[in-house]
Amino acid sequence: MQIRLNKFKDGKPKAMTMSYDDGVRQDIRLVEIFNKYGIKGTFHLNSGNLTDSYDPHSRCLSKAEVASVYKGHEVAMHTCTHPDPLAVSQQCWVNEILNDKRALEQLCGSIVRGISYPFGTVTRQAAETAQTLGVEYARTVKSSEGFSIPADFMHWDPTAHHSEEILEKGQDFLNMQQDWQPWLLYIWGHAYEFDNADANGWTMIEDFCRLVGGRPEIWYATNIEIVDYINAQRNLRFSADESLVFNPTALDVWISVDAKTVCIPAGQTVHLG
Ligand SMILES: [Zn+2]
Repeated sequence: MQIRLNKFKDGKPKAMTMSYDDGVRQDIRLVEIFNKYGIKGTFHLNSGNLTDSYDPHSRCLSKAEVASVYKGHEVAMHTCTHPDPLAVSQQCWVNEILNDKRALEQLCGSIVRGISYPFGTVTRQAAETAQTLGVEYARTVKSSEGFSIPADFMHWDPTAHHSEEILEKGQDFLNMQQDWQPWLLYIWGHAYEFDNADANGWTMIEDFCRLVGGRPEIWYATNIEIVDYINAQRNLRFSADESLVFNPTALDVWISVDAKTVCIPAGQTVHLG
């Protein structure tokens, strides 16, 4: 019997997620595109840069807009005021994360559990500190150029920035036939970059979403949904001969058994043999 942890939610072999930073006004237009094609995103916000009242000319959204603009997507941390993690004291780093978490949770009414590092940089100590403060994943800006799940979600390298020929990458992802891993396409960026007329950004991102959206083999998920699912999968408990598996988590998990997709329901033990 060959068992592989190579399926996402509902037994799908692939997933995709998007991540956009800074909480800028252009996120409104980007969310509309994501919603049109059924794509889910995570928006990493600096709560200290959100305006107190609505201002259509400001760079960032107002606090009151956050819950409605990002409805159906994930709001996550990007620190309170966007300092470089390599240039702040340990105490400042603690405050930047905790203040951001507290402020965003008050705006959204939900638990905020992820971060993207400002400028994409981090020391090992800063990553460990973030984890201690309740951060469960952290995105970098280093392109992996691949579709693998990270070994450590506190150093989560995305597939690519959206400027890196993502139509080709999207097509490569759709063409993937191998199944030794659950494959993940992860694109990140800043929505204000699409305003650069030379790059034709808004057309490019909509073409990309049209290409990869609406596919039955792809699970469209936020960053934290991917983390929760993979953690649940990694928490499955097997008997020594792998004929019994126990899912101690609150999420249903799918695996493959001799190339057949099998659901291991939350809280249940399943006989595979
Ligand atoms: Zn940023």
